[in-house]
Amino acid sequence: MTTGQGDLMEKIVGLCKRRGFVFQSAELYGGFRSTYDYGPLGVNMLRNVKNAWWRSMVQLRDDVVGLDAAILSPPAVWEASGHLANFTDPLVDCRQCHSRWRADKLDGPCPTCGSTDFTEARDFNLMFKTHAGPVEDEGAVAYLRPETAQGMFINFTNVVQTTRKRPPFGIAQVGKSFRNEITPQNFVFRTREFEQMEMEFFVPPAESPAWHEYWIAERYRWYLDLGIPQDKLRLRPHGPDELSHYALATSDVEFLFPWGWDELEGIANRTDYDLRHHAEASGERLDYFDQATGERYTPHVIEPAAGATRTMMAFLLAAYDEDEVGGEARTVLRLHHRIAPYQVAVLPLSKKETLEGVAREVLALLQPHFMCDYDVTQSIGRRYRRHDEVGTPWCVTVDFDSLEDRAVTVRDRDTTAQVRVPIDQLLAELRGRTGGV
Ligand code: ATP
Repeated sequence: MTTGQGDLMEKIVGLCKRRGFVFQSAELYGGFRSTYDYGPLGVNMLRNVKNAWWRSMVQLRDDVVGLDAAILSPPAVWEASGHLANFTDPLVDCRQCHSRWRADKLDGPCPTCGSTDFTEARDFNLMFKTHAGPVEDEGAVAYLRPETAQGMFINFTNVVQTTRKRPPFGIAQVGKSFRNEITPQNFVFRTREFEQMEMEFFVPPAESPAWHEYWIAERYRWYLDLGIPQDKLRLRPHGPDELSHYALATSDVEFLFPWGWDELEGIANRTDYDLRHHAEASGERLDYFDQATGERYTPHVIEPAAGATRTMMAFLLAAYDEDEVGGEARTVLRLHHRIAPYQVAVLPLSKKETLEGVAREVLALLQPHFMCDYDVTQSIGRRYRRHDEVGTPWCVTVDFDSLEDRAVTVRDRDTTAQVRVPIDQLLAELRGRTGGV
């Protein structure tokens, strides 16, 4: 069954709240605009998105290492990186109703009052400024990072010296970033506090175009492998007027959101911009001496920069489906098993103590390997529907026969097919269904 795109957004927002994926932050006090809290299912799913990224970018490679740098940082970092001067959006005010808009995103009259009378565009810096320590003077100014990337650049030498990695190699980081977005919108698509997944890949300068192509292809494939359909995913190279202050070339991975194509990730060739500027500003060397060739050079950097929270939203939108099972309408999230909040639900057919014993044994068998839910309330049909709606790929039902035959029923979310599996083969059966990935 198809769902209208406007409806789809409403349905996802509703499902996220109803089932504990995403709550409006500070809802108790009327809500704090553009900030969200991730509930019991959302936190699992968001963590899965980040883990899937980490697995592909760090765990399965020998040329990328991880980092977790501080969020609070001194002005010197952002002075050198160019963010204090350049990390701005052009801002216009509506002269009629005094609402503020991003000039580059505003296409037509004021969305609030319909006026076309705007002020000239002014640059607005997106960084959150705060003070570290007890005195709120200029010397105490600190910034919340607007991207994770700078942490990798300023730790370049630390990482090279401690890991003995040599270009081409990368440093990956996942974490929160903050931007004082003028028009946060579209649920968790654009928020002031969000999570990024970024990797800086340092290469000999001559190799940078080839590595750029390589990472564009790799990153595009990552979304496809995790179940985003090809017709909802595209690559779009930036035009010369769109490029960031540091980028020589950028391609975006875009997803077909209900409002149209929009960015999930940018893969930029940042050249030696960042290392060069930090070296100049700090007076320290940030280059690499290649002992094999006797050459000293400043590596160029290819950066795939993705948003974890935005990507989670794309996975939810792509997975949403409505179909009919046994003449009844159902909602189903066809999430990849790596991304689903729970991989397995263990469901004793009834609350009878005799069943719970075996069911808890099955739960203990699966918990070390899968994120499991244990659900005893309501009819088995209702429980299947509940798990379809949150994307749980497999339900394992323990019934009265299980006490005799030491077997359980495994139900598949997508086909609803059920098979009987001996408990001592259950782990192998479920592992087989993941296809080893
Ligand atoms: P946009 O043009 O949408 O503001 P950007 O091009 O400035 O994004 P980058 O600086 O390239 O974004 O950041 C990399 C990724 O971080 C983006 O592709 C996006 O997934 C995520 N991201 C950036 N800003 C936000 C935000 N305000 N809310 C949620 N995710 C964000």
